[in-house]
Amino acid sequence: MDSKDLSKVDPVFGQASFDNHEQIVFCNDKDTGLKAIIGIHNTVLGPALGGTRMLPYKNEWEALNDVLRLSRGMTFKSAITGLNLGGGKAVILGDPKTQKTPELMKRFGEFVHSLNGKYITAEDVGMHTEDMDIVREVTPYVTGISESKGGAGSPSPITAYGVFMGMKAAAQFKYGSNILEDKKVFVQGIGSVGEALVEHLVNEGAEVYITDINKERLEFVSNKYHVAIYEGDDLYNEEMDIYAPCALGATVNDETIYRLKADIIAGAANNQLVEETKHGRILQERDIVYAPDFLINAGGIINVYAELEDYDKQEIIRKTENIYNTTLEILDSAKANNLTTFEAAYKIASERIETRKRENSK
Ligand code: NAD
Repeated sequence: MDSKDLSKVDPVFGQASFDNHEQIVFCNDKDTGLKAIIGIHNTVLGPALGGTRMLPYKNEWEALNDVLRLSRGMTFKSAITGLNLGGGKAVILGDPKTQKTPELMKRFGEFVHSLNGKYITAEDVGMHTEDMDIVREVTPYVTGISESKGGAGSPSPITAYGVFMGMKAAAQFKYGSNILEDKKVFVQGIGSVGEALVEHLVNEGAEVYITDINKERLEFVSNKYHVAIYEGDDLYNEEMDIYAPCALGATVNDETIYRLKADIIAGAANNQLVEETKHGRILQERDIVYAPDFLINAGGIINVYAELEDYDKQEIIRKTENIYNTTLEILDSAKANNLTTFEAAYKIASERIETRKRENSK
């Protein structure tokens, strides 16, 4: 749905991405120019934890729908990963390169604080560990702060490791072997997660191609890991074994889905399928194995959860490696029950939430 259509429906509860969210908080501060939306989707399993994304959204509809979709995704991500966390997310409207200031981040932190821990923030696109350190000055309800300040540091390398595990599980399911050597993998977006994923793939001997809108990043990652920059202009028409979306979501859509020639889709980006049911079904019919994004990109949240539960690096790695087993279980269960992989993952996550809801109401 484009932003024009979005504006035709009811402003908040009528949005396509609204899914019984518990609370949506609009934050405005004239002095710093802050305009932010915090989406709290579900807190049955625990406080709603999810990162803050800063982007120059085209308009408010786009920002609202992003936060609604992302916060819902967080609910299912934490549920399927077995964490006692609910789902939330925040978006700040603006260009992080030109509009992000320490004052704006502090003011945002104060809004987070006003929710008394119902929402706990972390970093996402357009945010860095240093930004979370600033937020920490005004609220304890933030994770992903610097290791030097007692935090777990950047979640991105752990996220990449989890994506790598999920990708290997998908390969095991598709090819009967989880070895990615010689597999042709396209990594779209080589930011913090994409770069770390490239490193794992190169170490395993995969044939890696990288794409990004940032030319400098492309040169840097290509030189560092000796991987090829994709020179074409339409990656959705390329023959490949694995497509790893690690930039922004919604790349699997009506435009791309029938052209994609990959055997497997496994990447870090949130909300890769524009319409989960419809596009999940088309992928299933086309025999493309889709490793659900919210399942395989959970390494980051496992990493920040460690700050709340006080567990160590070993435990973070163990939980992240378990993404391999969970992914394989979901792929097997989807096949056995003729569900899309998204549906199979969603079902398990929803059941966990419903069970807890019943327990909580006793
Ligand atoms: P990042 O901002 O560091 O990197 C994103 C990269 O994608 C940048 O290099 C950017 O130039 C590139 N990009 C943007 N638009 C593009 C396009 N149209 N085509 C190609 N490249 C494009 O972000 P990140 O932390 O690496 O996260 C990547 C994705 O993974 C995001 O969708 C994020 O929500 C998701 N994710 C990240 C984490 C984490 O721990 N960082 C955890 C879970 C999910």
